[in-house]
Amino acid sequence: MLKLLFLSTPVGPLGSGTGGGVELTLQNIAFEMKQRGHLVKVLAPTESVLQGISVEQITGNLQIAAQTQDIDDPICLPANSMLGNMCEYARRVQSEYDLIVNFAFDWLPFYLTPFFECPIAHFISMGSMNQALDLIMGEIAVRFPGTLGVYTHSQAATFAFTDSCRILSSGIDLSLYQFCDRPGQTLAWLGRISREKALEDAVQAAQISGNRLKIFGKMQEKEYWEKILADNPDAPIEYGGFLSTLELQEELRQCRGLLMTPRWIEAFGNVAIEALACGVPVISYSRGGPAEIVKDGKTGFLVEPDSVAGLVDAIAAIDKIDRHMCRQQAELEYSLEALGDRFEAWFQDILS
Ligand code: UDP
Repeated sequence: MLKLLFLSTPVGPLGSGTGGGVELTLQNIAFEMKQRGHLVKVLAPTESVLQGISVEQITGNLQIAAQTQDIDDPICLPANSMLGNMCEYARRVQSEYDLIVNFAFDWLPFYLTPFFECPIAHFISMGSMNQALDLIMGEIAVRFPGTLGVYTHSQAATFAFTDSCRILSSGIDLSLYQFCDRPGQTLAWLGRISREKALEDAVQAAQISGNRLKIFGKMQEKEYWEKILADNPDAPIEYGGFLSTLELQEELRQCRGLLMTPRWIEAFGNVAIEALACGVPVISYSRGGPAEIVKDGKTGFLVEPDSVAGLVDAIAAIDKIDRHMCRQQAELEYSLEALGDRFEAWFQDILS
């Protein structure tokens, strides 16, 4: 049995959606480790909600998300930093744990690694965003080989320490996602409403192809959303808010396809595997994580990055995809068991 202490994302409470996909990833790894008989404790900002896992709520001010900052911005910590408080808590209790697992995409936990007695595994949830953060992660890659984990190869390739990254992919609790063989006409777009996700491309593709598009996810940039509405006044779109996993899969599974339009190098894209689990084909730009997930022509289509015309062509062909193949891919590659095997092996390698 391993005793694991997880440090959560410091940008928002778990369950709020502010942290994006890493919130679901953390939930799933914690749940599966507990299922396997390991002890898991999670440190996370106040108001965090996790299903079935013990959470120590840490007070303090949140970090600013890395994707909203510039590459050469200095590292910032607010007064009474939640991240600082979380690291201090971890320092105090470290002797009770075998391994600390850091999910914070931020400078401080990397910087503090050599000051801890307890080994730290760092799960990196985004591609390269900030020079100072890249540098400290690169130093840890050299001083503590094997301790940096990432989702995908394309994410690892954004860093100078590509070859030091352990590729861990992602996974979900498939029992929560119901397969649907008879979808309606609507398409789906899921994710944080934030400019790096380029929702406007999906909206234009929906308009040109004459398909309804349902949008779900955390409203992160209200002005950006309002600009999309103003620029596309007649687009057949509908925003359904930020849903729980249960509600989300109920909506998602009835859709003909999921559109993914990331402008950035998406580290993974949990929404892709959630769609596949429901039998929903994924149409994505051929870039970043989704390009490593979607099997072009089999479980969706990969189209030329930033090409709305490419999305439109793929939408026209979407019914050629066998939805059973989508569910099957999710079962083979993205089950909790597969996720647990990859992470457990990583933890054991660090400890041996
Ligand atoms: N999500 C959600 N409710 C919604 C829409 C999205 O809980 O209404 C979650 C979804 O399950 C996924 C996350 O938001 O885990 C988006 O993560 P993804 O990895 O796709 O992108 P990121 O936000 O990390 O860039």
